[in-house]
Amino acid sequence: MVAPHSESRSTLATISRTVRPAELPVGAMLELRPNCECCDRDLPPESTEAMICSFECTFCRSCVESKLKGRCPNCGGELVSRPRRPAEKLAKNPASTQRIFKPQGCAGAAE
Ligand SMILES: [Zn+2]
Ligand SMILES: [Zn+2]
Repeated sequence: MVAPHSESRSTLATISRTVRPAELPVGAMLELRPNCECCDRDLPPESTEAMICSFECTFCRSCVESKLKGRCPNCGGELVSRPRRPAEKLAKNPASTQRIFKPQGCAGAAE
């Protein structure tokens, strides 16, 4: 007779240690979105071409200057250069990987 070891339970006394006091609240840092909403160009965290509004709508500099005239097509707010996050911070606080692409909003803003 061979008894399987399926029921071996280890003591889970370490659970209380894994509960962290306070995670950083979501939204405490910039998302650093990976692309321009207008042309879908890649905007990596170290890019100096990335510009954002106060809601973090993210665009490349050429779209901001040529199509958007410095204004966010989503909220009408001003667009400013996105600060770059130091590489060592990126390791712990990685940039967003969720691409947002809304070219129709950009077309509306063009004159
Ligand atoms: Zn663009
Ligand atoms: Zn916006």
